[in-house]
Amino acid sequence: MSEAVGAAVIGAGVIGLACARELARRGIDTVILEAGDAIGTQTSSRNSEVIHAGIYYPAGSLKARLCVSGRHELYEFCRSHGVAHRRCGKLIVATDVAQLDALEELREKARTNGVEDLRLLTAAEARALEPELACRAALLSPATGIVDSHGLMLALLGEAQSRGAVLALRSPVLAGVVGRDLVLEVSGAEPMRLRAERVINAAGLHAPRVAAALDGLALHHVPRAWLAKGNYYSLSGRAPFSRLIYPVPEPGGLGVHLTLDLGGQARFGPDVEWVDDIDYRVDPQRAGRFYAEVRKYWPRLAEGALQPAYAGIRPKIAGPGAPAADFLIQGPAEHGVAGLLNLFGIESPGLTACLALARHAIDLLD
Ligand SMILES: Cc1cc2nc3c(=O)[nH]c(=O)nc-3n(C[C@H](O)[C@H](O)[C@H](O)COP(=O)(O)OP(=O)(O)OC[C@H]3O[C@@H](n4cnc5c(N)ncnc54)[C@H](O)[C@@H]3O)c2cc1C
Repeated sequence: MSEAVGAAVIGAGVIGLACARELARRGIDTVILEAGDAIGTQTSSRNSEVIHAGIYYPAGSLKARLCVSGRHELYEFCRSHGVAHRRCGKLIVATDVAQLDALEELREKARTNGVEDLRLLTAAEARALEPELACRAALLSPATGIVDSHGLMLALLGEAQSRGAVLALRSPVLAGVVGRDLVLEVSGAEPMRLRAERVINAAGLHAPRVAAALDGLALHHVPRAWLAKGNYYSLSGRAPFSRLIYPVPEPGGLGVHLTLDLGGQARFGPDVEWVDDIDYRVDPQRAGRFYAEVRKYWPRLAEGALQPAYAGIRPKIAGPGAPAADFLIQGPAEHGVAGLLNLFGIESPGLTACLALARHAIDLLD
């Protein structure tokens, strides 16, 4: 077997790429092992592409801390690396009086998380910003934005590669042995055994399966994987909104919201559908519920205007009905294996948090 590489990163989604960049910036020679034939084909390209402000997450959680610091870093990274993005702002809307308290609670939660710029708007103030909006009141988040997620991943990869990192596509990690040495069994066109001083398991939906295949890691450290699919429908024609519109959150997700891409095209989603398998097809039959949800805040949505678009799957580590879990970032202090890092449950706001998350995670190793 050849010399050990400094680090092997399993998975070239936005998290694996951000980790590879962080490792390369620290002068560590890094190999990125990606099962697919391109970077970012899974969750990282199947999301809302929203740069979240950090409103929703429990105080002190990794999600709250890494979202708020990650958001600042991400805007700066996009600016300095020419990644397309827009700080368009968003409105969280209460559509009946019973939800007014929820808006207040969100504002308090946001404040605790260090998001100080939310403004509570009356219905008239909200309609002055977005004339087609129906609501009782709204919270304006000026710091929320959108980002070209693929452009972001290319920029992360480019910086990692410019500092010596190597990307190996079509290189699924099947198993490994961890302990005194870290050795990975890599399949693909050129099967190999790769020895690494550090292994970062950033395999997204497959991270629990990859961890369970590492001989030497006690299985009780591997959480059960739950899959919560989120379906999106795109709007034919242009949306009469210039900000993102979110309902008050629902269990399992943030509710069927309106997001815009950088071209101004609108899409609605994601809903929450607990599934057993990874299947990204969008069932046209589910559109009925979307019309009902969206018309609560946009009554003029025309019949037939929604087209099935795409779906993403949240890599959950807590099942239906359980409270949402925090990001689970396991380093040697948790599982006892030097050099091994497992990243579990990296659902939203993982895209927003990627830079801060990568720094926090790699710090746990070195
Ligand atoms: C519906 C939805 C909406 C979301 N919206 C937002 C949002 O608006 N804003 C936000 O901040 N976050 C959002 N998120 C969260 C964000 O998309 C994720 O946190 C982030 O993309 C996770 O990236 P990742 O690199 O961990 O996973 P992935 O992108 O899934 O990457 C994992 C990679 O590992 C590879 N892989 C898997 N197994 C192996 C193996 N054995 N060997 C080698 N490679 C392997 C896969 O092929 C894949 O490329 C959303 C998520 C979902 C599902």
